[in-house]
Amino acid sequence: MPDDLPAASPSPGDPALRRLPSVDRLLGLAAPLIARHGRAETTDALRAGLAEARRAPDALPDAEALLATAALRLDARARPGLRPLFNLTGTVLHTNLGRALLAEAAIEAATAAMRDAVALEYDLGTGHRGERDDHLRVLLRELTGAEDATVVNNNAAAVLLALNAVGEGREAIVSRGELIEIGGAFRMPDIMARAGVRLVEVGTTNRTHARDYESALRPETGLILKVHTSNYRIEGFTAEVDGARLAAIARRAGVPLLNDLGSGTLADLARYGLAREPTVREAVAEGADLVTFSGDKLLGGPQAGFVVGRRDLIAAINRNPLKRALRLDKIRLAALEATLRLYRDPDRLAERLPTLRLLARPAEAIAAQAARLLPEVARLLPGFAVTVCECRSQIGSGALPVETIPSAALRIAGSGRALERLAASLRGLERPVIGRLRDGALLWDLRCLEDEAGLLAGLRGLG
Ligand SMILES: *Cc1c(COP(=O)(O)O)cnc(C)c1O
Repeated sequence: MPDDLPAASPSPGDPALRRLPSVDRLLGLAAPLIARHGRAETTDALRAGLAEARRAPDALPDAEALLATAALRLDARARPGLRPLFNLTGTVLHTNLGRALLAEAAIEAATAAMRDAVALEYDLGTGHRGERDDHLRVLLRELTGAEDATVVNNNAAAVLLALNAVGEGREAIVSRGELIEIGGAFRMPDIMARAGVRLVEVGTTNRTHARDYESALRPETGLILKVHTSNYRIEGFTAEVDGARLAAIARRAGVPLLNDLGSGTLADLARYGLAREPTVREAVAEGADLVTFSGDKLLGGPQAGFVVGRRDLIAAINRNPLKRALRLDKIRLAALEATLRLYRDPDRLAERLPTLRLLARPAEAIAAQAARLLPEVARLLPGFAVTVCECRSQIGSGALPVETIPSAALRIAGSGRALERLAASLRGLERPVIGRLRDGALLWDLRCLEDEAGLLAGLRGLG
């Protein structure tokens, strides 16, 4: 339909267009771009620029302008999607922002494993084939008190695998108060169905008693499942059966107890001024036959999921074909090994493990940082009213959902439109700055800001 053609579209023979330089001529002038981005990418970018120019023949660019546009286009294309950003959301373990930041020791170990061959499945002692999990086994046994351990892609995988290996074709008893949904389509009933386990719900949303579990036990029962209610709390008139009591019920019935701790910490968080979370060691000591937990939540390592517990059950898990599909590569195993090693020295843990270091930062130190940054940030964001305010950080990733930590923020106030535009420009920076839009202001919780100079340098580039 001719009506749809843009009115300004010139015919290919438009004499004005002949003034545009040819691709070949531009390529001859584009040596620095070719050196940086390669000939193919540079040619494509120049062609795209020429096509754009042909659509607006009234203001034809010269060669210099075409090269500049191509440079911008190439730089944008070359910018990694997973480039580092400033997480000023106040959520330390932000799932959408990649959760835990790794310790330097873990980064070094992962880098070394990437660059060189490692004894992934090779026993350097005997010269025979080894197991890839062996590198973590000793550490995990030591840190959790469990007989044995295995590791997979994430905790969702750990739960799926453990359920399938222990309970396939049988029933699993779970409290109605623990049928959780974690973000990203991890819903306990769905995972159980995929694992081939029949869900038997007991109790009510707010109260489940020992007798509820006991009366659900049948010859078809394959396991009892306890799930940490990571991202919510049931408060008020409530009752749950604790791990030790549940372990006794499971033992009497001769079925295993699987305790999905979710975040699962290896350290006593109270020691670092945080609210207490049950440790993996405690869950094991209470008598759980298997305990599952994440590598990149409170533990502070790369994405991974652990199953620790009874030797015979871990052996069954390792024989399960799903284990092969869910296993870890050498890079993450190296990072995990280095991360777990840090737990051998609790005195220096908060200093070495970024997750703990950030969570343990006192509000006064963050408030002082905010006051220090205020004048320069205010100068760099003209037209906005910047102030320091108190706020509360979150641990994130479903750890201690109702425990927020006092913190401090820079509050950037302006009109709604101006704030939206500012937030968009901040997302477009070389190192994007991600805050929270709330109550007519952009809030920057500074808990996770360690590189102040880097932030200011980025803001200077806002232009
Ligand atoms: C977070 C969580 C999971 C899922 O762990 P991922 O490591 O994110 O796969 C499973 N169960 C509980 C209780 C959790 O908190």
